[in-house]
Formats: sequence, structure tokens, C-alpha cells
Amino acid sequence: MVEAKDDFLSKWEQTTTKSSSKLKDFEKECTLGTGSFGRVVLVLHKKDKNYYAMKVLNMQKVIKLKQVEHTLNEKNILRSIDHPFLVRMHYGFKDACNLYMVLDFINGGEMFSHLRSVGKYSELQTEFYAAQIVMAFEYLHALDLIYRDLKPENILIDCRGYVKITDFGFAKRTKGRTWTLCGTPEYMAPEIILSKGYNKAVDWWSFGVLVFEMAAGYPPFYADQPIQIYEKIVAGKVKYPGHFSAEIKSFVGSLLQVDITKRSGAMKSGIDDIRNHAFFLTTDWVGLFKGKLKAPYVPQCSGPGDAGNFDEYDEDDEDEDDEEFQGQEFDDF
Ligand code: ATP
Ligand code: MG
Repeated sequence: MVEAKDDFLSKWEQTTTKSSSKLKDFEKECTLGTGSFGRVVLVLHKKDKNYYAMKVLNMQKVIKLKQVEHTLNEKNILRSIDHPFLVRMHYGFKDACNLYMVLDFINGGEMFSHLRSVGKYSELQTEFYAAQIVMAFEYLHALDLIYRDLKPENILIDCRGYVKITDFGFAKRTKGRTWTLCGTPEYMAPEIILSKGYNKAVDWWSFGVLVFEMAAGYPPFYADQPIQIYEKIVAGKVKYPGHFSAEIKSFVGSLLQVDITKRSGAMKSGIDDIRNHAFFLTTDWVGLFKGKLKAPYVPQCSGPGDAGNFDEYDEDDEDEDDEEFQGQEFDDF
């Protein structure tokens, strides 16, 4: 364990962003979200006075759960990307217990919360968000990056009502095939479940799941137990709600293809099959990219540090099962 930790720390150091910021430069405001290895907190930088979302990962948990490679990938990828629909990392550092990634704070909340509160989106609203995700994936795939964790919890809405994808914990740089079983059951492509080698086509599958879910209000493959979800996914039978238009049915159907040689985005003409689909007939791609279009929903935010669009978390029972989280540096918060 000690060796694993030392090795991890040296790899982390080699790739850390050159920045002078440390934990004591930030003031903690509240928790924004929790994940398997730590939590994401809203912080104020004492000097530059900007708000950030600080992802805090507990090093022991990362090592125990064999997520070292994924965590290094996450930081390196975040460091190298720059796109209007992806979160950016500003600082990366560590102390004795935790690793810290300091990201833009996107204050409109998760698409997940918004979608659940309104039930479902109109097809026009679905198109508005879907087109941004297409552009974000086009960018990532051009850099040989697979995202692997598309779902409404990882899509944030910014103060203008535009999308920012967060959580690069499963993202990976690869030109060819990869084998790791990862993702979230409802959004996993059949080739991942079947333990075949897979490639970036898995992102277009999960994109199809997301488009369905945005317009239906529920995902296309669901059940109580993951194993039942997997059975439905590999069978690949989709039942569309009665209100779906012919365009969205055909679009989702072109993405939820179990056979990847028939999946939109993964065929010879690549992303053109997606961009040129009738579902995007009236999409103003350039206007959207430049942020010139009016968003269908603009979140209410009283200021850049307003966390009112996020769920409330009990700050006192922070990782009570993990004493190391209460390290000396963390008390500086
Ligand atoms: P999981 O294992 O559940 O996927 P995770 O540990 O990988 O979670 P993230 O998904 O990166 O963590 O972050 C958890 C939550 O924190 C997000 O769902 C979101 O609510 C919030 N969050 C993450 N990044 C930001 C950000 N840049 N701005 C605002 N909130 C954020
Ligand atoms: Mg997440």
C-alpha cells in the first residue's frame, strides 16, 4: 500500500499544473456533490475572489478502489482540454490525505435535478442540449479521448443556460480499443457489458440514451437490478413514448444500435451522420458554439457563489467513515 501510494504521488507530481495555490488559499462554502472517492465543495479563492468547485479525492480510497490510473487520467485530461461545453481545471494539488482538482464553479445545477423537476424536455429543448454535447464529444474524440460517463448528473447548466460536462473520472486517451468495465449501468453500451474491446462508439450509445431520457423523462433501459438493465441493453429493444416525433425516434434508433457497424457516429462518415440527421435540421451550430442563442431555460442565480441550484448536504457528517479526511490541512478550510 505504501509503495502504491508513493508511486501514485510521484506520478501526480510529475503531471501537476504549475500553480502556487494550496488548500489554505481557499475558503470552504458548502458541499455541491458527493461521489465514490470524496466530494465536490464550493470554495472561494481568498486572493482572486473567484468561486470554484473543488473536487477532493481521498487518496486511500482511490488506491483501495483501484482508481489510481483513472484519477491520473482525470487530472491530465482536465489539464489539456479547452472547450465551451466542458469544465476547466484551474489548479491541481495535494496534501497528506487528499488530491484536489479546482474547477470552474458552474452554478446552474445538474441537468439531473432540473430534468427531474420539470419531468421531461420538449424536443426543441432536447435538441439545444444534445447539439452542445455532440460538439463536446466531437472535440474530445478528435483528441482521442473517450468520455465514458455521460449521464444527467455529470451535465451541469451554466448561468446562461448552456451545458458544461464535468467528471472526467472515467475519461481515457486511446486511439484504439480498450477493455475496462466502467460507466453507469443505464448508460453503458452493450459492447462494454459483453466485455468486448470497445472504442469511442460507446459515447454515441450513451448519447442516444441521454437524448431518449431528456425527451422521455426516463431512460430507455431501466430495472431494479443492474443485471436486468444489462439484459435489456444487450437485447437493444427500445420502446418509444407515444409523444416522440418520427425524427427523434429515428435519431435515437440510429444511436442505440447494438451492432456498432450500424451505429451513428461510429460509421465511415463519422459525426456527419449525427450532425446531418433530420433531428438537427434547424440547428444553428455556429450560433450555439458561440453562445449566441437564447437558452430554453436560464437558471436562477443570485450571484457567482450561489449554490441554491444544488442539493443540500449535511456538512457535519462529512465522510464520517473516513477519519483521514479530517486531516490537518482540511481543518484550514
Ligand atoms: P460519481 O462517482 O458519483 O460520478 P464523482 O466522484 O466522479 O461522482 P463528480 O461527478 O465529478 O464526482 O462530481 C460530483 C458532483 O459534484 C456532480 O454531479 C455535480 O453535482 C458537482 N460538481 C462537479 N463538478 C462541478 C462544477 N465544476 N461545478 C459545480 N458542481 C460540480
Ligand atoms: Mg459524477
